[in-house]
Amino acid sequence: KFDVVIVGSGHAGAQAALALRQNKFAGTIALVGDELDPPYERPPLSKDYLAGEKPFERILLRKPEFWQERDIALFPGTRIETVDPNARTLTDADGNIMEYGDLIWATGGRPRTLPCGSDIGTAGVHAIRTKADVDQLVAELPQARKVVIIGGGYIGLEAAAVLVKTGREVTLVEAAPRILARVAGPDLSRFYEARHAREGVTLLVDTRTSCLKSVGGRVTGVELESGSELPADLVIVGIGIVPNVEPLLAAGAEGDNGVRVDGQCRTSLPHIYAVGDCALHENAFADGDAIRLESVQNANDQATVAAKVICGQEAVYEALPWFWSNQYDLKLQTAGLSAGHDDSVVRGDPAEGSFSVCYLKGGRLIAVDAVNRPKDFIQSQKLIKERRAVDRDRLADGSVLLKEL
Ligand code: FAD
Repeated sequence: KFDVVIVGSGHAGAQAALALRQNKFAGTIALVGDELDPPYERPPLSKDYLAGEKPFERILLRKPEFWQERDIALFPGTRIETVDPNARTLTDADGNIMEYGDLIWATGGRPRTLPCGSDIGTAGVHAIRTKADVDQLVAELPQARKVVIIGGGYIGLEAAAVLVKTGREVTLVEAAPRILARVAGPDLSRFYEARHAREGVTLLVDTRTSCLKSVGGRVTGVELESGSELPADLVIVGIGIVPNVEPLLAAGAEGDNGVRVDGQCRTSLPHIYAVGDCALHENAFADGDAIRLESVQNANDQATVAAKVICGQEAVYEALPWFWSNQYDLKLQTAGLSAGHDDSVVRGDPAEGSFSVCYLKGGRLIAVDAVNRPKDFIQSQKLIKERRAVDRDRLADGSVLLKEL
């Protein structure tokens, strides 16, 4: 029996364990995860790790011995399949039973698959979610000339930026009329579309795939709804994730697209918390709507809240959402959530590769996407947190610092 069992050893799970110890939690802690490696950073998987510019040791969240030093018991390669909230037990895929005092569910999500049968699992078809995914992809790269990426979100775009630089023919297919449509406004989408095109990526927006073509179990192309086919030696599917919450929902927790949590990251089941990508929470920066956030910020901040609550401290999750993406020499930093904006203002000059898109709602700044403009990213945070009304003309003047608004 462990006083706290954390299921999922990604960003949120690892941070929960760390935060428990930082808050002087003296009980026993188990960190159980189905991946084989000790906790590591996920963002580099579609950036420097994919590019071969960072070895795995450098993306570990902590040195392997760290966990032992903090008396945090790691259970790698262990998949939890059922939760019994009355007996306070978990059962893994081998039928082993583990008892918990408190449970932190930090299982993230798994890549969404294409609606058409043949998908991840077919040779040459990959997702980018885990180190194992990327290792398999990289092992196949020497044989691949033509790469088709399905999905124009951050992961697909980052992978496109890395792979086109290796001289491969990269085609990116996006079903929506523009890339990044789910997370950013048209100014940002257009800027990134132009840059990828200039780097040699073929971008097909407003284009739906119908199925994958394969011969002898290996992918050979992607068929589009228009009937035409894109030849491919390698396909990357980056169309979002499905939260790993089935065991908790089966145990009676509220939720559907994620597990419902309150401001203290408690689920509707006693002694069970949920944090990170899998946690459906009411977010103040989304007008109180229940959302899931898929970011390192959210994983870390929610994990810290759950750990404090378990330690008997007062804590509430109200952190400002932020995110980043690296493509080519472009460092994008995002603060706030732009969904629901009714106006936007561009500061700086996109043609020079340094600008920010500021999103407004009712005259108040709600989010900023800063491209190679770190000052805007930093200085916008106070304005967004305070939901400050801003002067539109001064906001548009790139020579006025945001902190002066
Ligand atoms: P995860 O990190 O996914 O960890 C969940 C863990 O639980 C996984 O190891 C999973 O295998 C395991 N698990 C699942 N089910 C079970 C089970 N039943 N039993 C045991 N273990 C289980 N965010 C940013 O802010 N900036 C970025 O630039 C950025 N880039 C990204 C690039 C890529 C390629 C990816 C995949 C994500 C990126 N993200 C980025 C998102 C960020 O990595 C996630 O939001 C973050 O990892 C979420 O942490 P988590 O702990 O909730 O989930």
